[in-house]
Amino acid sequence: MVIVMLGAPGTGKGTVASLLEEKVGIKQVSTGDIFRKNIKEQTELGKIAEEYISKGNLVPDDITIGIVKNRLEEDDVQSGIILDGFPRTVKQAEELDKILDEKGKKVDMVLNLTTPEEEIIERIVNRRVCSNQECKAVFNVTINPSKVEGICDKCGSELVQRKDDNVETVKTRIHNYMEQTNPLVKYYESKGILRTELVSKTTNHLGEDVANEVVADIKK
Ligand code: AMP
Repeated sequence: MVIVMLGAPGTGKGTVASLLEEKVGIKQVSTGDIFRKNIKEQTELGKIAEEYISKGNLVPDDITIGIVKNRLEEDDVQSGIILDGFPRTVKQAEELDKILDEKGKKVDMVLNLTTPEEEIIERIVNRRVCSNQECKAVFNVTINPSKVEGICDKCGSELVQRKDDNVETVKTRIHNYMEQTNPLVKYYESKGILRTELVSKTTNHLGEDVANEVVADIKK
């Protein structure tokens, strides 16, 4: 099964994807995490990606598509994958369809998360992520704080703020999302595989609720 997580930054794609991984047993693959790992290790890819990510811009399609193409060859994703943060442009979506088609596969479900913009900004500037790349737990200093400040509940590592989680960069990321990624809503809607979910504290419908509902439907 191939699931694509769609949604502006801060809507909870990573949270929902990791809950789905846990509950359904399909591997979550985040292109953002792959880039951050490469930036930390200062690989050639990391140095290039950092130029774009630090400004809130998308990494060019040819680089990103190449990474996902290679990742899709690995054994742990042959029975299924949750793509978290890919595709983010129509070109990436078209290439993904081609790559999957060659393998006799297709995108089965696209989960499109939406959240009001003021809530997104508040969520992102208060977001803290586990520095342990294997853990990837996400907290929020206001709505979902860790038990001990600055320490991950799950693995005990230090919690950090992503460099691109600041107000200025977030505004650029939201702008780029509307221009480059939002057209994917129509792209997947026309294929009849889009499922849109509002994730908001105003409706008391958060990532965990979305994950539980999706899991229940998958297991039906
Ligand atoms: P994320 O962790 O998904 O918020 O991604 C962090 C950053 O990595 C984004 O703001 C982009 O700069 C870059 N990135 C992640 N996925 C993609 C993608 N599919 N295409 C281009 N850039 C990406």
